[in-house]
Amino acid sequence: MPSLSAPDDEAALPVPATPGEERYQALARLARLHFGVVAASISIGQRLESWSGFPLRQPLPGAHEDILVIADLQADPRFAGQPWLNEAPFPRFHASCPLLDSAGHWIGSLCLFDDKPGDLDADQRAYLRELARLAAMIADSDQATVRLRIQADALRESRRRMALAIAGSGTGIWDRDIPGDLIHYSSGWKALLGYTDEEIGNRIEESYTRIHPDDLGYVKATMQAHFEQRTAAYEVEHRIRCKDGSYKWVCSRGKVVSRDSEGQPLRMIGTTTDITALRSLAEHQQQTANLLTNLTNEVPGMVFQLRRMPGGESFFPYASAGIQDIYEIAAEQVAASVAPIDDLIHPDDLALYRTSLETSAASLSPWHLEYRVCLPDQGTCWRQGDARPTRLEDGSILWHGFITDVTERKRIEAELHEFATTDCLTQVFNRRHFLKLAEAELEHLRQSDERCASILMCDLDHFKAINDRYGHAVGDHALSHFASILRHHLRRTDLAGRLGGEEFAVVLVDVDMEGATAIAQRLQASLAESTLTEGDMRIDLTISIGISVMHANDTSAEVALTRSDMALYRAKQAGRNRIECH
Ligand code: GH3
Ligand code: MG
Ligand code: MG
Repeated sequence: MPSLSAPDDEAALPVPATPGEERYQALARLARLHFGVVAASISIGQRLESWSGFPLRQPLPGAHEDILVIADLQADPRFAGQPWLNEAPFPRFHASCPLLDSAGHWIGSLCLFDDKPGDLDADQRAYLRELARLAAMIADSDQATVRLRIQADALRESRRRMALAIAGSGTGIWDRDIPGDLIHYSSGWKALLGYTDEEIGNRIEESYTRIHPDDLGYVKATMQAHFEQRTAAYEVEHRIRCKDGSYKWVCSRGKVVSRDSEGQPLRMIGTTTDITALRSLAEHQQQTANLLTNLTNEVPGMVFQLRRMPGGESFFPYASAGIQDIYEIAAEQVAASVAPIDDLIHPDDLALYRTSLETSAASLSPWHLEYRVCLPDQGTCWRQGDARPTRLEDGSILWHGFITDVTERKRIEAELHEFATTDCLTQVFNRRHFLKLAEAELEHLRQSDERCASILMCDLDHFKAINDRYGHAVGDHALSHFASILRHHLRRTDLAGRLGGEEFAVVLVDVDMEGATAIAQRLQASLAESTLTEGDMRIDLTISIGISVMHANDTSAEVALTRSDMALYRAKQAGRNRIECH
């Protein structure tokens, strides 16, 4: 049984408590009098709006489609045993007619009760329907009123929220009457510049006086462009003077909202937002970026970011101005691909350059490489690269690093190396370096059965006599004269060294005793043919040579050298200018 009390969820069918009740009451009274029954009630939803007659505590379940008439409740088997039937005033007759809204949905019931059995004829039923229709109309209009009130409340709330949002965002609103040369500002707009409502006029000319003189031309031109429909909207950033004389940066946006029949603008509405803080932040960021760029540009060499995508394609997202010195190209040329740099790397170093980057990417280890580049202006130069890789979320590798010009350092290093390994007078290896290389060659022999090597030990004959006769300087010339013949006859793979005084040693790689003898003979012949001349003097030089073969089982290169030395000794003993084999 439905209860008389109001349901919890009234929002589903909002009905005002008053004055509805009065109107329903009048209708219920009318129904009671017209039908001559004890009571009539009107309920909306589950709520009893009004009753007339005996005090109903519970309405009966009404039919939702059409009039329900129960001639005698006491006799109707559907209500047998209902306790309320036995309570005074002992209802007998009951009729109920549904109240339907404009869409035909049930919204309530108009009910009649009497203490005697009864019925309704067709006219009475029609009358009851009319009364129910009237009640439904009242309910309908009440609901419409409530809905309107709710909508109005929502609108008020949304306007209030929007006003709050606008005020909180540092935005003001303006409304311009274009033909009238007037502009109206919201309080928020005026507050933006520190003015109260009364402190600011609305003539357009006055508004222009507040715009920074340097920005006025641009603002007017942008506005004009929009008036002439060359732009879809008006948007400018400019400085505007506040009440205290200071300037603020603002962003103004607007749109013409009405035009005359010829397209001339009539009204324009827009907003102005304070972007001073945003501007100074952007300026600060720009300064920081400039500082970084300046720093990296002033660092000798090239500061860079190199990125390798998972697919393998690589490019330089950033390269400092130093790229001009390092590679003689511009940063833009490698912003999309590293190919222009690969083309500049010395062909002999390109494979190493690539593998070194591969290794760094694979193991995420720092990249370090010294390599040569061949540049249009600078020619062949040395570069040193250092960078640290990181793996990005997309699987690409990003290196941060720098490349410096190490050509001069490399030159000095090469000089130092030469100084440390070469005999200055004769330009062949010095004793220490020669012995080191001879030792390395012995190691090669040990590792390969197919290799062999011979050692020549050469000593100029009667050299002391040359010194004594022509002087030490001429002796020096004689030494370098022989050394140049030696260098001339040797291959790049052979090793020649000055072991001391007028004593030279040679390791002939992949040359056996027979071949070594032939080379020794050519050396002797060449020395004999190229007489040393000093002014008018012609000095004939001869040389004695001892040969031995280096063996893989020699404990050291010096062992083999000693054998050649022994052969040399025999050559000297046998009269000099000779070749002896061990
Ligand atoms: P032999 O035919 O037996 O080899 O006799 P030699 O005179 O060539 O040999 P010896 O060992 O008696 O003399 C070598 C000389 O070489 C002694 C030394 O003064 C000279 N000598 C050593 N180093 C240099 C040098 O750098 N420049 C010059 N000019 N002479 C040097
Ligand atoms: Mg000697
Ligand atoms: Mg000698």
